[in-house]
Amino acid sequence: MSIALPTRETVTTINADGSRRFIHAATARGWFTTLRTLASIVLIAVYAGLPWININGNPAMFFDIANQQFHLFGLTLVTQDLWLAFFIISGAGFGLFFTTALLGRVWCGWACPQTVFLDIVRRIERWVEGDAPQRRHLDREPWTLGKTLKRGVKNALYAVFALLLAHVFISYFVSLPRLWRMMAAAPFENWSAFLFVFAMAGALWFNFAWFREQFCIVLCPYGRLQSALIDNDSVIIGYDTKRGEPRGKKGTFGAGDCVDCRRCVQVCPTGIDIRQGLQLECIACAACIDACDTVMEKIDRPRGLVRYGSVNGFAGKKTRYIRPRIILYTVLMLIGATVMSFSISTFKPATISLLRMSGAPYFLADGNVRNQFLLRIINKQNRPEVFQIRISGDTPELKSSGTEELVQTAALGEQMRPLVVMIPREKFHGFASVKVQIVSADGKFNAEQTLPFLGPTK
Ligand code: SF4
Ligand code: SF4
Repeated sequence: MSIALPTRETVTTINADGSRRFIHAATARGWFTTLRTLASIVLIAVYAGLPWININGNPAMFFDIANQQFHLFGLTLVTQDLWLAFFIISGAGFGLFFTTALLGRVWCGWACPQTVFLDIVRRIERWVEGDAPQRRHLDREPWTLGKTLKRGVKNALYAVFALLLAHVFISYFVSLPRLWRMMAAAPFENWSAFLFVFAMAGALWFNFAWFREQFCIVLCPYGRLQSALIDNDSVIIGYDTKRGEPRGKKGTFGAGDCVDCRRCVQVCPTGIDIRQGLQLECIACAACIDACDTVMEKIDRPRGLVRYGSVNGFAGKKTRYIRPRIILYTVLMLIGATVMSFSISTFKPATISLLRMSGAPYFLADGNVRNQFLLRIINKQNRPEVFQIRISGDTPELKSSGTEELVQTAALGEQMRPLVVMIPREKFHGFASVKVQIVSADGKFNAEQTLPFLGPTK
């Protein structure tokens, strides 16, 4: 059955009556498909492997919600280090802006988890139900035992894959030994985690079985943003109209190289016709390049009728790689990366927070002005540490208590200490400050915080 070509005025996944049109993309074979498969294997190994790789005694990437810590490639961040997230997120955001402005939707086509996972889902589908024509045929068939069996097996495999991914996802938040214990225990012993994994696996299954490419077309915010980031010099996947048009069978007088075989449309996972120009639905998966190159080889024409290029390049103009928006995004990305690198290089293995105790801001007792503080010491290392507390200030007569003993902290642990700081009343003239410092037992690092010392103004 001939299928009507998609147009730029229609959404490929919606029929004229508003119902869902299921896209059965044909299998593409070629260089880019092979490279993308290899990239997928590496990415899946990275996604699944990060919680297993041990760096400095912690997983390479782990959000320890219970202890409010985030482990990132040997670095342990606590809630006080949240400001670093601003530079990490903005640096990554500008990095994505830069990549998109330069290389279009390369992230979508090559690295996005949705694309990587859907590639696996399509393999499962192909394995159970056959290639695109057989799947379309199965769609139209009445519900026989054979069809029910195929659909059942396919959806059961999707569910297994979804459950696997949900467990991989939760391993970023629950340590692997604990996750293993939870999996071995009955569900009612860990209801909340069980429901979370179940709900997530359900959402993933729905995505694999029904939603699929619609996520990229209607839901993904980055997909919406890309039209603002891309310009006529960005590298996209496009069709060489000058070379391909007018379309016609091989050997037809005056015809271009496109033989209108529609192979590029058949392999497209979002169901578009790339010959109509750059479209929002295109996730830059390069399947149409492989499909068209195969056709070009068969008809003895040069490859690259569909290829990577820029809108200006396809129009015969020069592609400008260095342009104002690329320079701007590069500068913003470098600022983010520099600040982040500097912050990480000055990162302390322990932090302190000094808080004034609740109640009156100061007390007058025995001829002294007294301030009371609560010191919180957080050890961000994977080994116990002993700290010495030192208190100083701009008034030489300043005295303190609470600093006599060394403070023992467990690995990744914290300790609280009340501190009392006093200045003789006659030496206090309305303003003073207190500096609290902790020094590691080996003297290799320290952390400090300064707070004003409060007292009577007269
Ligand atoms: S048009 Fe080509 S690159 Fe874009 S989504 Fe379809 S097959 Fe992939
Ligand atoms: S695969 Fe190539 S030759 Fe065939 S319709 Fe698409 S652009 Fe034309």
